[in-house]
Amino acid sequence: MSNVIGIDTGGTLTKLAYLDEQNELKLELFPSNDMELVKEWLVRHPQVEEIGLTGGRTEQLRDVLKTMKSIEYIVEFEATLKGVRYLLEKDGHYIDSCIITNIGTGTSIHHMFNNDHVRIVGTGIGGGTLIGLSALMTGIGDFNEIRTLAAKGNRAEIDLLVKDIYQGMETPISGDLTASNFGKVGITEHVNHNKEDILATIQGLVGEVITTLSIQIAEEKKAQNIVYIGSTLTNNEHLKKVIANYTILKKRTPIFLQDCGFSGAVGALLNISKYNKHE
Ligand code: ATP
Ligand code: MG
Repeated sequence: MSNVIGIDTGGTLTKLAYLDEQNELKLELFPSNDMELVKEWLVRHPQVEEIGLTGGRTEQLRDVLKTMKSIEYIVEFEATLKGVRYLLEKDGHYIDSCIITNIGTGTSIHHMFNNDHVRIVGTGIGGGTLIGLSALMTGIGDFNEIRTLAAKGNRAEIDLLVKDIYQGMETPISGDLTASNFGKVGITEHVNHNKEDILATIQGLVGEVITTLSIQIAEEKKAQNIVYIGSTLTNNEHLKKVIANYTILKKRTPIFLQDCGFSGAVGALLNISKYNKHE
């Protein structure tokens, strides 16, 4: 493997990226609340000389690593954008302008245009919200369990759709749009909902809030493509479907990256000057 790696240490997960001898991208994942695991990984990989580092938990990781390795820090949004450009090409998307929505623990939305980018807005609704609401409402706080069960759930008895309100009338907007996430619960007789349905509805809430915001920004910036990234999308076909359906309904093009959670780590890797010189 190369002697340089990139690390993005986020609110929930710490992502690590490097290139192997074949120049193929290799990725590793650690929980951010156990930084010792990163240190152990580095002890097992003594060839690593330099780390490109980014993310909100950078200082905590520095404390754990002490002066073990040379570190080149890059601001999170810069790293994310560098990584997105690389991963877009890797997946065969050749675009130079888009909205980038990063669904991490929280969510932030950026506008990428030509060689520039700017962060537009953020929301506290993100992957952390998905885990938190799921844990509180169903007792399930494990991401993989949540995404698996949500895919088997049905939102129809919990969400209130526009057509549920406009009964027997023509609807002013598409009747299949959500009028109120979880809105049916308060206006129907008490029913016990199963965990799958509740989890699917939570994913609906999180996905729709984030997509609504992203579409608004896309309209404002006249951008056709919205690239959705962040580990909340990892193997999460149900959430991707919520996001894709709504984005398409609003006549924008959703793009999902294969290595959706690793933009920051890849960007931090690409930022290392030594690595750049090798290029
Ligand atoms: P931020 O960028 O907001 O500081 P982050 O970088 O840690 O946070 P991501 O790694 O992009 O954020 O996404 C974190 C979310 O991904 C979690 O909140 C959870 O919903 C989901 N997730 C995916 N895989 C896992 C996993 N193995 N363990 C825990 N959460 C996971
Ligand atoms: Mg992050």
